[in-house]
Amino acid sequence: MDTTVLWQTSDAELVDAHTAVVQRRRQIYAEELRLVAEMESRGVATKLGYSNTAALLMHTARLSRTEARHQLAQAADLHATTTPTGSVIDPALPQTAEALARGEVDSEHVDAIRKTLADLPHLDAEQRATAEHVMLTRAAEDDPKALLRFGARVRDIVDPDGPPPPEEEPTRPERMLRRHTRRDGSMEFKGHLDLESAQLFENLLKPFEKPHPEGNDTRGYAERAGDAFADVLRMAANCPDVPAHNGVRTEVAVTISFEQLQQSLDDVLLSSDPRMTAREARRLACDAHILPAVLDGDSKPLDVAVPAYAAPAHIRRGLYLRDKGCAFPGCERPGSVCDAHHVAHWAQGGPTTMDNMALLCPQHHRLVHNSDWAVKMIDERPWFIPPTYVDASRTPRRNHIHTPIPSAA
Ligand SMILES: [Zn+2]
Ligand SMILES: [Zn+2]
Repeated sequence: MDTTVLWQTSDAELVDAHTAVVQRRRQIYAEELRLVAEMESRGVATKLGYSNTAALLMHTARLSRTEARHQLAQAADLHATTTPTGSVIDPALPQTAEALARGEVDSEHVDAIRKTLADLPHLDAEQRATAEHVMLTRAAEDDPKALLRFGARVRDIVDPDGPPPPEEEPTRPERMLRRHTRRDGSMEFKGHLDLESAQLFENLLKPFEKPHPEGNDTRGYAERAGDAFADVLRMAANCPDVPAHNGVRTEVAVTISFEQLQQSLDDVLLSSDPRMTAREARRLACDAHILPAVLDGDSKPLDVAVPAYAAPAHIRRGLYLRDKGCAFPGCERPGSVCDAHHVAHWAQGGPTTMDNMALLCPQHHRLVHNSDWAVKMIDERPWFIPPTYVDASRTPRRNHIHTPIPSAA
């Protein structure tokens, strides 16, 4: 049908044309998720210097963080995933992946099926496949809400006996912490604290998680609490009573030769930590929040005077006044959480002065050091030049949130 002459089509043709387009959109969405799964599986984001695939998609496709994470979660259920050790895990919902690829179900149907199956963790593989099949058959006639309601009854169809009774209620330990380090080095955890420790934790966190008084703090509660937790950890690490780890104090996180630090090395792994690259060490050294042990040619610690590269208070104040917060385009994080980044690294002779420095939050500081984003000072302000896969013309961008360009009028 020629959609440029819509007025000529009959009502029935119009409805049919719409249905056909919806089916195509779903098929294209299936293709989108397949590509997302492949990017995640290959670790493309990490190779390009991003902390994870969601952060990359926010730049390349301009997805919201919520949408990027949602697509990643769907992709993980519909497609095979590769673990950090290289073993391949079969997809949890292969039939749903096929139905989406045929354009028979929509993204919201996929979510209804994911939710239903996630609520039935005790099913065995055969029962899961049956439940998925039953849901997909039903999805042919139901909208996603109705499908989800039907999902609540799927258990009775697939497993009428219900889950086996728990053998014995395990007693929960008073305090516990389960942590899981992800491939990119970030961490997820879950835990339980007894009453006294919980109160101590609350009291420690409270002063740090208040919104910043400047009034432009748009962080949600969970993000503020996360930042507060990181601040408390940093505080604990700086406490002189913290026990040494393997005989080395934790603030010396990495040893690197001065030569390695001077060069822009991509993937040189440092022996002290398998996840630490020379690039990462350069980022840590950039504002000397964590002091790397810099070694000379004979592997003896090199005496680099700290004031040579840690931004002194008057420069930091000047940067707060000029940049007001993280200088990266689109970032809203306030100056109080930022590092002072050397545009030309101090190890390569870059001076510790206002016109060679920019405030960057930890996330964007890492991105600037690890990816192909470049920083350039234009009219005494930091501008950011995107990599070609974000903007083929590499047009410089700046932060308009903290320092809007005054209108010409
Ligand atoms: Zn830096
Ligand atoms: Zn930032």
